[in-house]
Amino acid sequence: MIIPLKVTSFLFSLLHSLTRLEERSYLCRVSRAQEILKSVGLSKTETRIGLVNLFLQSTSALSLQAIESSLEKLDRITLYRNLRTFESKGLIHKAVDGTTHPKYALCDAHCAEHNHQDNHPHFHCRKCQKTVCLEEVQTPSLSALPKGYSLEDTNLILSGTCPDCS
Ligand SMILES: [Zn+2]
Ligand SMILES: [Zn+2]
Ligand SMILES: [Zn+2]
Repeated sequence: MIIPLKVTSFLFSLLHSLTRLEERSYLCRVSRAQEILKSVGLSKTETRIGLVNLFLQSTSALSLQAIESSLEKLDRITLYRNLRTFESKGLIHKAVDGTTHPKYALCDAHCAEHNHQDNHPHFHCRKCQKTVCLEEVQTPSLSALPKGYSLEDTNLILSGTCPDCS
């Protein structure tokens, strides 16, 4: 098949602008990551920027394995330490999904240092194993607990099939 030169050059310029767009959105995310770190008073190390960037990019909660495979240069101790710091700063929360793999997701603006407000359920897809925050759904609050119980945490886990898999 012979593609006319005009079409070829059009395709090239399209490809070029797409690459530029991709670059720009990457830069946007990096500066957003820097902003987020600054807002919680954390220094902007390369690792932290990389981590926040990864969370910004991801549409589902990230397992430790997923983070490790995306940020290859990162050693496990540094990763755990940073995740703990992020969690205590109100930046990320554990997306409890009933599986044995802990997953993390970005918090919304209502969370603050040592004060998480993530009262949304997490949906675990049994087909693709992804877990997502259902931020638009409010976890129902329990009206009363039997005497002697004090509540610290409520996790509502929903499981089934996600829109991508159904
Ligand atoms: Zn939170
Ligand atoms: Zn799915
Ligand atoms: Zn969540």
